[in-house]
Amino acid sequence: MPTLLIDGQWRSAADGRTIDVINPCDAKVFTTIDRGSEADIDAAVQAAQKALDGAWGRMTATERGRILMKFGDLIVRHADEIAQIEARDTGKPMTVARNDIVAVARYFEFYGSAADKIHGEQIPYLNGYNVQVVRVPHGVTAHIIPWNYPAQMFGRTLAPALAMGNAAVLKPSEDACLSGIRLAELLMEAGLPAGALNVVTGYGYEAGAALTAHPGINFATFTGSPEVGVLVQQATAKNAVPCVLELGGKSPQVVFNDVDVEKAVPIIVKAITQNAGQTCSAGSRLLVQQDIYDSFTQRVAEAFAKVKVGRPEMDLDCGPIVNRKQFERVNGFIDDAIATGVPLLARGALAEGLSPDGFFVAPALFGAVPREHPLACKEVFGPVLAAMPFADEDDAIRLANSSEFGLVSGVWTENGARQQRMAARLHTGQVFINCYGAGGGVELPFGGMKRSGHGREKGFLALEEFSTTKTVVLHHG
Ligand code: NAD
Repeated sequence: MPTLLIDGQWRSAADGRTIDVINPCDAKVFTTIDRGSEADIDAAVQAAQKALDGAWGRMTATERGRILMKFGDLIVRHADEIAQIEARDTGKPMTVARNDIVAVARYFEFYGSAADKIHGEQIPYLNGYNVQVVRVPHGVTAHIIPWNYPAQMFGRTLAPALAMGNAAVLKPSEDACLSGIRLAELLMEAGLPAGALNVVTGYGYEAGAALTAHPGINFATFTGSPEVGVLVQQATAKNAVPCVLELGGKSPQVVFNDVDVEKAVPIIVKAITQNAGQTCSAGSRLLVQQDIYDSFTQRVAEAFAKVKVGRPEMDLDCGPIVNRKQFERVNGFIDDAIATGVPLLARGALAEGLSPDGFFVAPALFGAVPREHPLACKEVFGPVLAAMPFADEDDAIRLANSSEFGLVSGVWTENGARQQRMAARLHTGQVFINCYGAGGGVELPFGGMKRSGHGREKGFLALEEFSTTKTVVLHHG
């Protein structure tokens, strides 16, 4: 089946090229996707504009919302099937894949039901004037998403955009886009007019670059690496197009000496091993107050050693790394840490019977990692946790905020005043206290500070981000 959706039709790439899709569990090719490029992007942008000028642009907010909620229902009914696709494409355990699909449905339910609840304002002005501020869509929106949570990202980026009446062009990741293709099919089945969503599979440097540079787009949103985020911002800036960037993190878990150990340890371990650590908001730095550093890291090490890695159907704690490039990158961090003498406190285990060609990595806990070491500063994007001691609250803040990133942080303390002080002083877009949500639910605004990017997705704020305003001034005398 062709994998480009343009103007309501499934098509192959204009030049007929394809990309092999590789199973991360054994490195074998199991299907292909179409390799869209500039001509396909151009057709997709034109189709989106046509939808805005046609049936989609004329639809009421209630009608749009109904389609999105119907799609939410369809996702729930096809959850097992889509979870299978997602697990095969990414290697993630079946239970995790199923949870991801439930989350996608939730995005469309949440934003579908919100579509007609975004109201404008009336502004008191001069006598004889009526001034209204109305919310309007940006127009054609460009969506570039990564491979770590392909289905969830489909929901996170498209549900608010469509709810606000934009017409979208999605460029999913070449490394995992099969769930998105199935979801797009179901969205058409739910009644989305042709051209309101267009999907162009392909490489980032071809289809992605062509999309962000296209003069016909009015807004772009990107999730991925900081390096590509800067390219996206440069490309959109050339046409004065606004963009939202979500570029990952090096999120700290700050553990004080009054921590509830039983509660904290499993959550801290899960926050870095979930999805094999390939989560932008993974808790990848473990900062522990000096006087409990040894005892607490010992407890985390015991839990770490029990983490098991396997194929999706084994349904263990984590699956493989998504592709060879990332596999080598993650192993590079681990090998470098060992070679430079950073103590390895624990490793998880690979299940029996895995293919030696698969991209499986046993999770690793290191500590105490020197504060300037690459493992303490760089985003690994794998199941690697860097533990470091801190002296007191000021030192904890210094260390936590020393990162170039600022996406999410976790704080573990029973002291209420300290909880408030930490929340106020941490430079991250989300702060979790005595819990950790790795981005949290659909309802919670999410996005970074510093090099983690800018703009907000999720929650009601996404509806503002994915729309703009028009001020209408009427003189009635
Ligand atoms: P990437 O940034 O290259 O890819 C993300 C998306 O951007 C993909 O859809 C890709 O096709 C597209 N893209 C690539 N080049 C582009 C360009 N020039 N113009 C427009 N779009 C382009 O990420 P990657 O190579 O898959 O992973 C590398 C690193 O990125 C990881 O190690 C990790 O640190 C980070 N990452 C972060 C997230 C996140 O959720 N923040 C997700 C995936 C990867």
